[in-house]
Amino acid sequence: MQKNLNNLYLKSFIRCKRKAWLDYQGNKSQRIWSPHQSIEIIKRYKTFYKLSDGDLYSGEKACKRGKNGVIGLKARSKVINNINTEMQPQLLKKVGGHSKWGEYKYIPVVYKLGHRTTKEHLFDLAFCSMLLEPFQEAKIEKGLVISNFSNRINIEKIDLNPRLRKKVTNTFLNLNDYLKRSIPDITEDRKKCTICSWQKFCDTEAKDNGYLTDIDGIGSKTALFLQKNGISNIKKLAATKKIDLGEKLFQFKEQRFEKAAKIIKQSKAYLSGIPIRILGNKDLSYLLINKDSGFFIFDIESNPDDKHDFLYGFLKVNNLFENIEDDFYDPILNLKNNTKTSNQEIIQKLFSQKYWPVLHYGETEKIAILNLARQSDLDVKEIEILNSRFIDLHLIIRRSWILPIRNYSLKTVANWMGFEWEQKNISGSKALYWWIQYKSSLNDIFLKKIIKYNRDDCLATLQIAKWLIKKHEKTN
Ligand code: SF4
Repeated sequence: MQKNLNNLYLKSFIRCKRKAWLDYQGNKSQRIWSPHQSIEIIKRYKTFYKLSDGDLYSGEKACKRGKNGVIGLKARSKVINNINTEMQPQLLKKVGGHSKWGEYKYIPVVYKLGHRTTKEHLFDLAFCSMLLEPFQEAKIEKGLVISNFSNRINIEKIDLNPRLRKKVTNTFLNLNDYLKRSIPDITEDRKKCTICSWQKFCDTEAKDNGYLTDIDGIGSKTALFLQKNGISNIKKLAATKKIDLGEKLFQFKEQRFEKAAKIIKQSKAYLSGIPIRILGNKDLSYLLINKDSGFFIFDIESNPDDKHDFLYGFLKVNNLFENIEDDFYDPILNLKNNTKTSNQEIIQKLFSQKYWPVLHYGETEKIAILNLARQSDLDVKEIEILNSRFIDLHLIIRRSWILPIRNYSLKTVANWMGFEWEQKNISGSKALYWWIQYKSSLNDIFLKKIIKYNRDDCLATLQIAKWLIKKHEKTN
């Protein structure tokens, strides 16, 4: 039996044509659970509950009873070109007016997780209003986009004008057409894939076909440009001469030969599985000079929407190569965003060994600690010294090695070096999901999972430092 087309497929279609096709007729067992999606569902429900003043109920019965907020309503229609269609509005909010249920009507509401209002939000609102109008027998002029940051609800009113509705109809007809064809190609903009539940499925295909966007440094525009110039896959790119490619990459101006060399080498490493050393790099020197000292290894867990760093994880080692004991790791929790207490503890910790370097992966950790130091009683000189102790291994690895991997995230790099996280299929978004679960349940089990994850992130960072030093000693 043919499924009804709905606003969820329409939203997927705007994001990626292939995603809409897979959502509609792909093999569901190939999908992976997305923590990002789960976070959105939890946050959305809490925000809708607040927006409806707790008067939030489900289904058409709730509409009849005039509840402030209605979720879970599904209604079928054929209003768009006689196609079997269904609306599944995220939320209906009661407003003044006249509908088949009485002296009130409903308008559609969507939740946004980030700060940007996108075409997906607008089209979702317009689509639902087009089906809701005949269903409730009342016109709808406006829809709402709702967000919630630091416990403050923000409401944006959207004008659901005929122009927007026309665009929605055209896109919807396009969707209907696409779903009848064979599976669309993988999107050129692979950034979209990072939060997609079909990522694993598409990654396998991209790898098998040597997609250019699998090469670090090649985004959708560069991939398209290379294809236009006859370089259609990674194999062809690896076989290209730096001088020939550099001449063509005029958009990168004076860096064009450097860019050409980098992506060619990256593709060679990717195909061979053998890392390539970048010669003459000085970034490693600070790590090498200090290799016999003790180190702090530091990693933060945060909830960016609430600007809340809730866990500062420290691993303290007297020597990078010593065996790690349980008490080497110290998680400093900041559960209530009461920075004063945790700030003191962190500063004390860092200054318990005044000259030890602090290893971290990515710039977030250094920025957070320096901000925290500025809020404490430290003077300018002390902050300067602290600043000089940080060693960003992400920067070092990128500047000293080309690795046979798709990206240089902590997970990908450390995994490639043989490190395994104790908890499977783990990610920063999953840790954030556990944090949200902990906040609403206060169940320590979630906190324990986050701490275990953070400890492994510290150990993974340590593994990268050890790899860099060992490689240096072998090749010198
Ligand atoms: S993983 Fe990427 S290409 Fe595949 S469906 Fe999702 S967004 Fe589209």
